[in-house]
Amino acid sequence: ILNGQTIWLHSNYLIPASKVVIIDAGHGGTDPGAQGNGLREKDITLDIALRTQRLLKANGFTVIMTRTTDKTIRLAERTKLANNSKANMFVSIHVNAGGGTGIETWWQSNAPEAQKSNALAKNIQNELVKETNVRDRGIKDGNLHVNRETNMPSALVEVGFIDNSNDAAKLKQERYRNQIATGIVNGIKKYFQIFH
Ligand code: ZN
Repeated sequence: ILNGQTIWLHSNYLIPASKVVIIDAGHGGTDPGAQGNGLREKDITLDIALRTQRLLKANGFTVIMTRTTDKTIRLAERTKLANNSKANMFVSIHVNAGGGTGIETWWQSNAPEAQKSNALAKNIQNELVKETNVRDRGIKDGNLHVNRETNMPSALVEVGFIDNSNDAAKLKQERYRNQIATGIVNGIKKYFQIFH
């Protein structure tokens, strides 16, 4: 109602356009990713990606998955799918290795949409740490294919170290995987409060 008059709008205008998020489960198929403590990175990333997909849908987002099964997909295929989709953002899920503990999130400063990618990485990282209470390794600027080659804001999360027994014990828990999914979704929601 405006100035006492009823304004009739086509119903399309009343429904906010759904935000489109691409969730990329790292590795898969013939590429297991990092391995340790009886875990394979490709299995954990897929499980967390599927949990994140469900939660995003429940929050009204449209979700595009680069994979929903244990399938081999090259990095170039993932970014091509993303760039053809006109999605609002790309979020890749990985598990770390190499000695360390905690969570970090990667973005790229010389990629398209760098400023938005920085904000996306910061918000996801903050929410992940808030949910899990694990060590905050911060956000990192690096030259990663999926961040470099996507033409929308993008971030890559490393949700723990597979070769650290303490992190691996957490990664095995459904509770921890749900916390990760929640952290990612809350970070995405915070991002969209800044960039509508
Ligand atoms: Zn990985």
